[in-house]
Amino acid sequence: MLLGFKTELKVNKQQRLLLSRHAGVARHAWNQGLALCQQVLLHNSINPDDKIKFPTAIDLHKWLVASIKSTHPWYYEVSKCAPQYALRYLSDALKCFFKKNKGFPNFKKKGKHDSFTLDGAIHIDHRKVKVPIIGWIKTYELLAAGYKPKSVTISKQADKWFISWKIEVETSETPKKQEFIGVDLGINHLAILSTGEIFDGAKSYKKYQKKLARMQYLNRHKQVGSSNYRKANIKIARLHLHIANIRKDTLHKITTYISKNHAVIGIEDLNVSRHLLQVGEPAQRSGSGMLANGKLAVSIADMGFYEFRRQLEYKTKAFGSKLVVVDRFYPSSKTCSSCGEKKPSLSLSQRVFQCVCCGMTCDRDLNAAINLSQEAARLVVLACGLDSADTSRMKQEENEGIC
Ligand SMILES: [Zn+2]
Repeated sequence: MLLGFKTELKVNKQQRLLLSRHAGVARHAWNQGLALCQQVLLHNSINPDDKIKFPTAIDLHKWLVASIKSTHPWYYEVSKCAPQYALRYLSDALKCFFKKNKGFPNFKKKGKHDSFTLDGAIHIDHRKVKVPIIGWIKTYELLAAGYKPKSVTISKQADKWFISWKIEVETSETPKKQEFIGVDLGINHLAILSTGEIFDGAKSYKKYQKKLARMQYLNRHKQVGSSNYRKANIKIARLHLHIANIRKDTLHKITTYISKNHAVIGIEDLNVSRHLLQVGEPAQRSGSGMLANGKLAVSIADMGFYEFRRQLEYKTKAFGSKLVVVDRFYPSSKTCSSCGEKKPSLSLSQRVFQCVCCGMTCDRDLNAAINLSQEAARLVVLACGLDSADTSRMKQEENEGIC
C-alpha cells in the first residue's frame, strides 16, 4: 500500500529563498484561479440563460499561461510544475465542494500553509534529495537511496521546510490480542476502549498552552511587520508546531496500539455537531482543563477526531485488521451495553450510566465503547452472512468478558 512519507529539509539561505518563491507562485496561481472560478460562478448565477462552461484544471492552466504568466515574469523563475499542481489541487478542491464533501476553497495567504508540488527528475540519496530547479537539498534523516518518487510536495511549517512523497509499504498482519474492540472518543479522556483501557491526551499540552498565551501577550505591542514582530511570530509558530506534534504523536501511539492488537475496531462516525453541543453545554463549559474553553475545545476535538479516523483507516490496512465505522445515529451512549435497553435521554452531565432495567452501573464512555464494539461485531457478522444465533452468542461472550 502507498503511504505518505514526510521529512524535514536542511535548507541554506539561497534554497530558502527559492522554496519561498515556488510557494509564492503556487499561491498566486491558486488565488488567481480561484478568483476566476468565483467570477464564472457569479456570472452563471446571474445569467442562467447564458452560462459559461466551468473551467477544468486544464482550462485553468491554459488561461494561466495565456494571460497571467505573460504579465508576471517571475513565474519563469520557478518550475512550471508549481502553478500547474496548484491549479490541479484547486480543481480537486472545487470538485469536492460541488460534491458537498467540503466547503468552498479559501484564498491562500502568505505564510499560512505554504506548499507546492514538483515532479520530474527527482533523486534520493542517503541524506539529500534532488528536485528540479532547486537542486540537491540536505535532509536531517537518513533516506533509502535509489527510490524515485513521481512527485514531491514541499511545505513550510513555522520556519521549517518539509518534503513529502508517497512510498510503497508492505502490509504485515500482526498477531491480535483481541477480536473485537470499540473506541469511544471523549471530552474527558482522549479515548476509552471497550476493554476498559483509558488513553489521556498529552498532558504537556496545557503547560505549553500557558506559554503560548504568554508569548502572544508579550507580542501585543510590537509593530506589525517589524523585525522583532517577525521574530516573535516565528517563535509562536514553532510552539504551535510543537504542540501539534505532541498531539499527533499521542494519537499515533494510540492508533498503532489499537490497530496492531485488535482484529475488528468499532468507532463512531464523525459527528462534529454532537461534540459542538457537548462542549457548548454550560455544564461542560464550567469544567476544568484544556477543554473548558468552548472554541478551543471544538478545534481540538474536531481535529483529533478526523486525524484519529484517518490514522486508523490506513493503519488497520497495514496491520491486517478491520475498521468498522458505526452509523452516527446509533445511540451508543444511551443504550445499556448489558441488556440493550435504550434510555430516552441521557443528560451530558451524567458521567455514569445506570440502567433501570438490569441495574448495571458503568462509566458513560466505557458503556459507549462496549456498545460500539458490539455493534461493530454485529455489522461484521452481518457482512459475513452468518446467522443471528452466532451474533447473540458473540454478544454474550463480549458482555461476560467485560462486565
Ligand atoms: Zn441494562
